[in-house]
Amino acid sequence: MKVRHTVRLAATAIAFVVATTATDARQPQAMPTPEQFFGFQMGADRKLANWDKLHEYYQRLAKVSNKMRLMELGKTSEGRPYIVLFISSPANLARLDHYKQLNARLADPRGLSEAEAKQLVAEAKAVVVQSFALHSNEVAAAQTAAEYVYDSLTRTDSEAQQILDNVISIVAPSINPDGTQMIADWYMKYVDTPNEAANLPWLYQKYAGHDNNRDGFALNLPESQHLGRLMYREWVPQAYVDHHQMGSGNARLYIPPYAEPIRPDGDPLVWREMSWWGAHMGNRLEAAGKTGVIGSAIYSGWGHMGFHWITPFHNIAGMLTESASARLATPMFMHPDQLRGGPRGLPEYESQISMPSLWPGGWWRVRDIVEQQKIAAWATVDLAARNRETVLWNMYLKGTRQTERGATGAVKAYAIAANQHDPLTVKKLVNMLLNSGVEVHQARAQFFADGRVYGPGSFVVTTAQPKQGLVRWMLGRTFYPDNTYTRDLKGDPIRPYDMSTDTFGEFMGVRSDPVSEKITAELVKLTAHVPMTASVAASAPNGYVMSAKLNDSHRAVHLLLDKGVAVRRVPGGAGFTPGDFIVSGSAAVLADVAKQTGVEFTAAAAATPPDAYQVRKPRIAMFQRYGGGNMDEGWTRLMFEQFSVPFKSLMDAEIKAGGLDAKFEVIVLPADSVAAMTGDRPANAPPDNTPAEYRSGFGADGLKALEAFVQKGGTLVTFGQAGDLAIQRFNLPLRNVVAGLASKEFWSPGSTLRVRFDTSNPIAYGMPAEGLALFMAGGQVYEVTSTDRSQDVEVISTYVDRDILQSGWLLGEQVIAKKAGAVTVKYGAGKVVLFGFRPQHRDQTHGTFKLVFNALLNGPTGARASTTTSQQR
Ligand SMILES: [Zn+2]
Repeated sequence: MKVRHTVRLAATAIAFVVATTATDARQPQAMPTPEQFFGFQMGADRKLANWDKLHEYYQRLAKVSNKMRLMELGKTSEGRPYIVLFISSPANLARLDHYKQLNARLADPRGLSEAEAKQLVAEAKAVVVQSFALHSNEVAAAQTAAEYVYDSLTRTDSEAQQILDNVISIVAPSINPDGTQMIADWYMKYVDTPNEAANLPWLYQKYAGHDNNRDGFALNLPESQHLGRLMYREWVPQAYVDHHQMGSGNARLYIPPYAEPIRPDGDPLVWREMSWWGAHMGNRLEAAGKTGVIGSAIYSGWGHMGFHWITPFHNIAGMLTESASARLATPMFMHPDQLRGGPRGLPEYESQISMPSLWPGGWWRVRDIVEQQKIAAWATVDLAARNRETVLWNMYLKGTRQTERGATGAVKAYAIAANQHDPLTVKKLVNMLLNSGVEVHQARAQFFADGRVYGPGSFVVTTAQPKQGLVRWMLGRTFYPDNTYTRDLKGDPIRPYDMSTDTFGEFMGVRSDPVSEKITAELVKLTAHVPMTASVAASAPNGYVMSAKLNDSHRAVHLLLDKGVAVRRVPGGAGFTPGDFIVSGSAAVLADVAKQTGVEFTAAAAATPPDAYQVRKPRIAMFQRYGGGNMDEGWTRLMFEQFSVPFKSLMDAEIKAGGLDAKFEVIVLPADSVAAMTGDRPANAPPDNTPAEYRSGFGADGLKALEAFVQKGGTLVTFGQAGDLAIQRFNLPLRNVVAGLASKEFWSPGSTLRVRFDTSNPIAYGMPAEGLALFMAGGQVYEVTSTDRSQDVEVISTYVDRDILQSGWLLGEQVIAKKAGAVTVKYGAGKVVLFGFRPQHRDQTHGTFKLVFNALLNGPTGARASTTTSQQR
């Protein structure tokens, strides 16, 4: 019970707040405290306010306060309002657009003299964005936000006034409102039952679940698009803090700065600023008696491209707080013996410079988290208010210096040829850069750069711009550091926080060339998205062709099949690329599909070869499970929706019932362990209090049903480790050559690797002969084993023989050199398509999407299998 001490100190801090708010002369009825409004104190044991109620509260505050403006930026994935709150003095709020202009000018200071910049700094307001509740099962932040916002509006002490006068504080009170609703409703439904604090059985963001913060560059989710527009283009803030929770076993609160290693090429000032902000937070927290607060640890500066980690390359001090978790809103007891050191910079649970006071253990509650998050959030805007001119001047310096670095550095620009393998995906990459506020130019005419020719319409991304750091990470080759920061005492590699590369151009299969000279071409700055214009040939006596090389041809195929248009596929010959689609439909229907997809319908130059085969609407299912959901499934579902792929989600019960061959031709198993799919729990697994109806696993019956499905002619598609299900259960003549290897022997966590594709294989139709595949930790690499069934294996792609690593981190390349990355194995009348790498990772790897799309069209109705299984239709 030693923890009581901490709680009492915290209570004192709250009393202070209440005392000062009591002096506010505003009608107390009109401005309810969170406790009055919700009927409990924020963070009270076993209580959670859901999004509907929180939204109502913010609407109420916005109505009665002249210090806050509520703006709805759009809707969430499930149609809820996505809001942000602008909090500042009434005078500042009245001139919000004006301050937005000043801020924008400082964020992109090109052409600004020092004298002009100083004038702007004198007049402008500091802009700070703080977001809460991205990860919905980290339940405290959504509750904290309500109390923090209330305090911001009602505190009348000089510090609060100084903040209102000097800072435009933008609060995103939940950046995943859908999840905030789900988790609160779920928790409150089971509180005080044996299922209290059970994990939510499904993804708390419709598509991404916990991965919703891995979307800060691709901006695939509506929620990310709203936040991206706000922070990358409209209000580039000087600081951004995202409030999270972590595990319970060590520090109580992580605050900035990050631990080593950092991802280089941001402006150095941005890292200094994070230390500065973190010091202010730490100072305030320690003064308030909060113990177990740590910085420079646990979260390395080289993370994923989530918002708080990508913003440093937008010249924003992008930061994170991570509080120790309770059990959702249920208090948790941590015995002192349970407290241990942590990863990165906390070798033992002992006091150290970055964590001078230790939390002694005891009960830990959501209220504890709310209190420390409030202090950290307040310290953030307080620093900006006290140092308004410095943070604004820094913004000017960062933008100016980054631009200068780009102008004088080795890489002056990235040139992106318009006419490369999949020109529509090129446009998507360019549009993504524009969404991030990156400046992109388009060439009117052909130009030369570093000895290469670029056709008209090609794109140029100069590095002489404030966001050159971002440009570099999205387009430039990347090597993850391999040094004492990234190896443990035994020399084993330490897993990067997420991926070891996030090079978006590589993910998308788009070539972007670093150029060492200033490009002198007639360039037009893009001010709007590049349109996906497409045309339909005026006359096509031999039928229309859609290129196999375009991802969007597959979308067009599904749209055309829906409209009853006949689509055939050509295995090659007569000037066709293997896999080209031949369409014969009315020009009006094609024009409509062309407009929707950007796909061009050209006239076939020759008659359709006799071996062309009919593409029929495939009946596709994808396995979806409880147990918290599977993010790979969610992202794949999003990709399917974006490309108009028809599919049905398949849960345990339907699999176990069997008869799958009568319903589906293709079943997709997203990356998952066999145990997670079957529900086999290891003997030492902790007790699971998930309500029985949400327990997950299709068990032995499901395995039998899936086997029968393939035996009878179905196609089973597996991603990553899900391949184990087929390899083990169906005893395929395959071996995963990286299984069980020590990390020193083979290691490649989230890297792009060079592979060759057999473009005559229907699964690799439309792929380039050589390309990149994204390999994740836990991925598979195949070798055919010596059995009498080796003729059943077709290799779709192989790793090149040397220099396999394009970007990321790879140890032991000889283990995978020339080995198969993806294979098809016949089994009974059907087949299994195993992707050892991740062809559709997080809906980002457009460069390999086609492999998946081909696999979907390559069921019993298509391609090589058609001769053997056509009778079964
Ligand atoms: Zn989190």
